[in-house]
Amino acid sequence: MTGDTVPAEMLVPRFLGEGEISFVRKPVQKPGRGQLSIAVKANALCGSERGQFFDGSGVTPGHEAAGVVVDAGPETRTAVGTRGVIYLMDFCGECRSCALGFTNQCTNKRGDYGFNEDGGYGPYVLVNENVFFPTGDDVPLAEATMLLDVMGTTGHAIKRGLRLREDVRSLGIAGAGPVGLGTLAMAKILLGPEVSVVISDLSPYRLDLAGRLGGKTIDLREKTLFEGLREHGLEEVDLAIDTSGKAPARQSHMEALSKRGVLVCAGHGEGLSLDVSRDLIAPERAVLGSEYFRYDELHSNMQILHEHLPYLGQIITHRVALQDLQEAFEIFLRGETGKVLVEQ
Ligand SMILES: [Zn+2]
Ligand SMILES: [Zn+2]
Repeated sequence: MTGDTVPAEMLVPRFLGEGEISFVRKPVQKPGRGQLSIAVKANALCGSERGQFFDGSGVTPGHEAAGVVVDAGPETRTAVGTRGVIYLMDFCGECRSCALGFTNQCTNKRGDYGFNEDGGYGPYVLVNENVFFPTGDDVPLAEATMLLDVMGTTGHAIKRGLRLREDVRSLGIAGAGPVGLGTLAMAKILLGPEVSVVISDLSPYRLDLAGRLGGKTIDLREKTLFEGLREHGLEEVDLAIDTSGKAPARQSHMEALSKRGVLVCAGHGEGLSLDVSRDLIAPERAVLGSEYFRYDELHSNMQILHEHLPYLGQIITHRVALQDLQEAFEIFLRGETGKVLVEQ
């Protein structure tokens, strides 16, 4: 199989800071030993890129990319023409964490694509073969990007909680951004329709979308979390997942936990204050962190994506061309979107 003709140069976005993106020419690099060159077909915008948009970036951002292999270096096994997604963390595969499958906790990580290595907003990206996950020809590459933060990060956070709490009847999600919406959708799929999923946010657009995905919504501009829970017939939740990174959201969700309840913090950001006796010891609650996901979780999530493609596809609300990237960020950061994709 032969790929597209790969040009010698490409036009890539440069994040200058202060919300400015320009385009510059860069050479398309040839893959070295163990590397693949990927023609990017879709890359999703992410809230974690806020810093790069406002402070600038020395590399090409983009860490939720899907594309097609157009060139493969020596000692690789992936055929040119293979479609797939790129796992963010360039894990070593050999350290104590990687040996057990915890690739998201690699102790010898070589880099993070889109943060300190060039990522998926360019037309071509060079990656080590171990981070490429083939997705087959049945799922469109645009939708395949959901295997990353939308399904991967969220499924991992839910499973972290379930390891400590098996009898979950209710789940509270703080934040209805793309990760919050993904958590809601993955909870509906993994936990079943009888588990109540309550989701709170300040954005009416995102709450509306959460309602369509089957969430019980709480508009925090109008009421507190506890007032909202009561209106939905709940006094407490068994599992809470914070995707907002906001201290008041973490705090209120911890206070809403039942006995044996678990709070999983999946959004980077602010703190949480604990009264250890009252909050943890007496009710035997747990507070956990959850960072990205294991590479091997992509297999089961691929199956889920196959089975629930139209449902999960609702999370993607905007598709834009690469040259409109700056405008896409502006709309996205106003909170008036679900997932926004750049398509090439
Ligand atoms: Zn992301
Ligand atoms: Zn490792």
